[in-house]
Amino acid sequence: MSTESMAPVSNTDTLDDLDEFRRRAKEFLRAEVGPARASLTAGLRKLGTDEDDLREVAHDRALQRTFFDAGFAGITVPVEFGGQGLTRAHQLVLNEELEGYDYPVRLQVPTMTPCMAVLLEFGTEQQKLTHIPAILRGEELWMQFLSEPSGGSDVAGALMSAVRDGDEWVLNGSKVWTTGAWWSDWGLCLARTNWDVPKHRGLSVFIFPIDAAGIEIQRIEMLNGNMDFCQEYLDDVRVPDSDRVGGVDDGWTVGTRWMFHERMSSNSPFVTRPQELERSSLDGAALRRIARDGGISGTDAAQELVGEGEMLTLVGSALGRRVGQGMRTGTLSDQSAAIARLYGGLSLVRRNTIALELAGSAGAAWSDDDGELALRGEDFLMRQASCIGGGTTEMASNVIAERVLGMPRERALDRDVAFRDVPRGPAPEEN
Ligand SMILES: Cc1cc2nc3c(=O)[nH]c(=O)nc-3n(C[C@H](O)[C@H](O)[C@H](O)COP(=O)(O)OP(=O)(O)OC[C@H]3O[C@@H](n4cnc5c(N)ncnc54)[C@H](O)[C@@H]3O)c2cc1C
Repeated sequence: MSTESMAPVSNTDTLDDLDEFRRRAKEFLRAEVGPARASLTAGLRKLGTDEDDLREVAHDRALQRTFFDAGFAGITVPVEFGGQGLTRAHQLVLNEELEGYDYPVRLQVPTMTPCMAVLLEFGTEQQKLTHIPAILRGEELWMQFLSEPSGGSDVAGALMSAVRDGDEWVLNGSKVWTTGAWWSDWGLCLARTNWDVPKHRGLSVFIFPIDAAGIEIQRIEMLNGNMDFCQEYLDDVRVPDSDRVGGVDDGWTVGTRWMFHERMSSNSPFVTRPQELERSSLDGAALRRIARDGGISGTDAAQELVGEGEMLTLVGSALGRRVGQGMRTGTLSDQSAAIARLYGGLSLVRRNTIALELAGSAGAAWSDDDGELALRGEDFLMRQASCIGGGTTEMASNVIAERVLGMPRERALDRDVAFRDVPRGPAPEEN
């Protein structure tokens, strides 16, 4: 499926002319949206107290509502689900115009994609009518209940169990690394519904409110003090069958698209985000300022590092555009999203390393008034997150090798074995 077909245009008769749309977007942003917050580029950093975090979340929800009321939410989402029914080109125009403005950052990934994208593709009419307008109004923040303590990259090896009981399912098990579960509303969850077939054939996908009875959330502190990561324990959580997404035991069909939408990340047609945000966060200009503030911009070593950083950034932008265009026009398979994901992870690690080298001793000890030099050490310590979150870069390499280039599948000892008989460590109670 191409990215265009992911975002059907339902009101082709009233499609805005792109120039007119750009004019309206400019006017809206100027009149109703403030300048970019410093916290927009904070990423995994700790922003302040829990109250500060909750204030930021409330701000994002209100801002999403402002976008919705002005007709700038869900640009590529069909009108019947509260969206604008426009094209990916309109979304790109909005993203270009967003440069320098505030935007509802926490509503984008994972709420708009992969969660809303999965609902649009696999949800029932009722699920879509219930949740998608609420998401677009900023009333529902969604999280991915995908990773498990016993096997993150092996997503199909999920041990979270869902057992049918009449019109309901009873879920037991644990999910982990759920970013922001403590301030979110709904979860999209992969669970095992059949232990007697090979692992890919016994999964189903469910949705539930994160504050449902039987869910305990524990927060996990990262090495920089950020506590958005969570582990959830589900103890007899009851989910109506009407909240199942996709067929029983057919969760892997949903799951593969889910991971595709996750790899698309900010390239997704459902994401509203300044076009050049990634670029401007640690591009050559930013690195040049770090070298200047560190007093070494005249050195050969600094010149080389800044040049390398700018080259990495430019290549990343061009690659993202090329892969996106290739997928849209069908010259590249959808699996090619893994190429941009792999490059993005590796490039950000290198650019954070360059920034640390340019910062010199301020990379080890800094104060808040160190300007561009501040936080270089912390970002360096957190750099690997860009190679892990959203699926690891090693898994992206596997996808490129196997599904883009058609190389032989990795050897798997559990391929045709009933999941019940696959040897593994201690597991939650099975049905
Ligand atoms: C910032 C961030 C945000 C996240 N947010 C969420 C979230 O909201 N929801 C959620 O469910 N999860 C989330 N995660 C979890 C993330 O998806 C997992 O950490 C990731 O999938 C890897 O799983 P793991 O940590 O269990 O590592 P493992 O799967 O144990 O992997 C360990 C290492 O072995 C490598 N490896 C494993 N299998 C293979 C293989 N077959 N071939 C080659 N290499 C392999 C991996 O690539 C990795 O380098 C987040 C993680 C981060 C860092």
